[in-house]
Amino acid sequence: MADKTKVALVGIGKIALDQHVPALAASPDFTLAATVSRRGSVPGVEAHTDFAAFLEARPDISVVSLCMPPVPRYDYAEAALLAGRHVMLEKPPGATLAEVHALQALAAERGLTLYAAWHSRMAHAVAAAKAWLADKTVQKAHITWREDVRKWHPGQDWVFEPGGMGVFDPGINALSILTEILPQPVHLTAATLEFPANRQTPIAAQLAFTGHVTADFDWRQEGLQTWDITVETDRGPMRGPMALRMGGNVLEIDGQPSTGQNSIMGEYPALYARMADLIRTKTSEVDLAPMTHVADAMTLGHRVTVDPFHF
Ligand code: NAP
Repeated sequence: MADKTKVALVGIGKIALDQHVPALAASPDFTLAATVSRRGSVPGVEAHTDFAAFLEARPDISVVSLCMPPVPRYDYAEAALLAGRHVMLEKPPGATLAEVHALQALAAERGLTLYAAWHSRMAHAVAAAKAWLADKTVQKAHITWREDVRKWHPGQDWVFEPGGMGVFDPGINALSILTEILPQPVHLTAATLEFPANRQTPIAAQLAFTGHVTADFDWRQEGLQTWDITVETDRGPMRGPMALRMGGNVLEIDGQPSTGQNSIMGEYPALYARMADLIRTKTSEVDLAPMTHVADAMTLGHRVTVDPFHF
């Protein structure tokens, strides 16, 4: 069996520890060879604190997976590509669209793989929903993405700083699914964005798109958490409605469970399998459609000021 490809994980925080480390431990393609993080580390794995020094010291590690928040990520990605490494980006792939385009161009110029990962697209029922919709015309769709920021991002003030995207940090997961499953593309026509009086990014958003597609994102949801997309279509034999629940993990047709399982633990192993394919085939995958919708909402959105938010 061929040796596994060495990966360095950079930015050892919540998502690196929750998902990347277990996915790499189970990967048939990759092995976690080093971490780079100012404070974080993984027991038993070589730990660096300075990225430039790491790149210099470990030329044998050909893949770098970047898990820090979007604003600092560009500098790391650029340095990694300039040092000849393949790069995997957590979602959202950057703080701006233009910086991701610049990374795309650099990766292409250097013949390296750049993978802008969208973990929610790997949820259990997304491919089945896409296949079910493929021969239908969508008449109406609605996203309800309501969760408790205090539960999922405890103390993570960066989400409310410029570039942190606020409620679009989870909302972009819904948009990554929407843009994957819809047979016809849509674009944003209106948005209302609710900004806490003491914060730089929205805590809630209501979006309208062409094709009667709407979205309701809210980060103040206590109790029951909802990550649903419902879709009404034109024709039978099964007209739907179709519902993707639990963040794309459960598919319902006409109110009956069709496929899926209520766990996100398959998403990150699937992302690393995709990264392995991309490297093998010397290609990149950078789909900016979900982030374009967020940028459009920020451009076109009507701003409403709401109560200050404190963790
Ligand atoms: P986090 O725990 O707040 O941050 C991850 C790590 O990034 C930190 O531990 C920190 O490590 C490093 N970091 C933070 N600010 C930095 C800076 N200015 N420069 C360099 N490194 C910095 O965030 P997270 O929840 O893991 O999220 C990271 C990314 O993953 C985000 O884009 C998020 O959307 C995505 N994601 C998160 C989740 C989730 O459930 N949290 C799920 C899916 C995807 P050091 O201080 O040790 O350097």
